[in-house]
Amino acid sequence: MSKLLEVKDLAIYFDTYQAEVQAVRGVSFELDEKETLAIVGESGSGKSVTAQSLMRLTPMPPGKFAGGSILFNGEDLTKKSESQMESIRGKDISMIFQDPMTSLNPTMTIGKQIAEGLIKHQNMSKKEAHNRGVELLKLVGIPNPEKRINQYPHEYSGGMRQRAMIAIALACNPKVLIADEPTTALDVTIQAQILDLMRDLQQKTGTAIILITHDLGVVANAASRVAVMYGGKIVETGNVDEIFYNPKHPYTWGLLSSMPKINNGEEELQAIPGSPPDLADPPKGCPFVARCPYAMKLCENHMPEYTNLSDTQKTACWLLDERAPEVEPPESAIVGGAKVHG
Ligand code: SF4
Repeated sequence: MSKLLEVKDLAIYFDTYQAEVQAVRGVSFELDEKETLAIVGESGSGKSVTAQSLMRLTPMPPGKFAGGSILFNGEDLTKKSESQMESIRGKDISMIFQDPMTSLNPTMTIGKQIAEGLIKHQNMSKKEAHNRGVELLKLVGIPNPEKRINQYPHEYSGGMRQRAMIAIALACNPKVLIADEPTTALDVTIQAQILDLMRDLQQKTGTAIILITHDLGVVANAASRVAVMYGGKIVETGNVDEIFYNPKHPYTWGLLSSMPKINNGEEELQAIPGSPPDLADPPKGCPFVARCPYAMKLCENHMPEYTNLSDTQKTACWLLDERAPEVEPPESAIVGGAKVHG
C-alpha cells in the first residue's frame, strides 16, 4: 500500500501574550491509502492541532509551523499558499467536527451545503449537484433524502446532522477524511451508528480516515492503527491489537484503565490522576513524568527514544531500556474486562 500522508517531525507553536505554547513537538506518522488511523489523547495533548494543521485550519498566526513537514502525495502542505490549500480542502482532504451545529451553516439548506463543493471542485451544474446530494444523503442513511435535502440544519436531529456533515465531507471523494471527535456530542446509541456508518463508507469509498478522539473505546472497532499522543508528542503507536492487548506505555495503560468497566453491574470510571503538562514550559524529559507511577530520575531530564517492539508498534518509555526495572501493566489496563463501545 502506498503512503498517502507522511508527517515528519511536525512542530506547531502558538504565540500567546504570556509565552510560546509548544502544542505539537516533533510528531511523525504515516497514513496509508484506505486505512483508519486513530490519534488518541486527552484534551491538550496536541491531537486536534495536529489534525487541523493537516488542512492548515490552525490559525496562523498565532499558530506557526515551527518545524517538520506534511507530505501529501509527495508535496509538502506546510509550503502551500492559502489559495493552493483552498483547492485541496474538501477535494483531497476533508474534515468533520465534533459539533455539526457549529460547522454547518444554519442559513443554508443541507442540499446547498453539499452542492457547494461539487460545483466548486467537480464543475457540476446545480442540477447535477442536487442529484448527487440526494444520492449522498441516501448513502449516509438519511431517510426520505429527496425531501430532507431541502431542509435546514435545525430541522435535523443531532445524529442526522452528523450524517449530513459526513455527506458534505465525502461529496468530492476525498482521499483523506479527518474526523475530530465525531461522536463525542452524541449519545451512545447514535455514536455506535455513526462509527458503523464511517466504517461502512470507508469500505465503499476507500477514503483513508484519521480519527481524533480522547476515548480509546471509540477506536476499538473503528481504527486499524492507533497513535497515542501526550504532551504534544506521540508516546506509543501500534495496530489496534497491539495497543489494546500489548500496550507498553504507562500513559496508554492509564487510558485503557479509564475505559468504562462493568463491575458488580455498575459502570466504573478510573481517571488518570493529575493534569497534562504546561506546554508553555514543556518538560525536558518524558512528558508523562509528573503523572507516571513508574517515573525514574532519568525520565525528568531525558526524553526516551522510541523502542521498536514490532514492525508496527513503537513506544517511547525508559521502562523499555534494558537497565530499567521490570514492570507489569496494572490489572485495570488489561482489556479483558473493559467495555469496548461500538
Ligand atoms: Fe513513566 Fe519514565 Fe516511561 Fe515516562 S519514560 S512513561 S515517566 S517510566
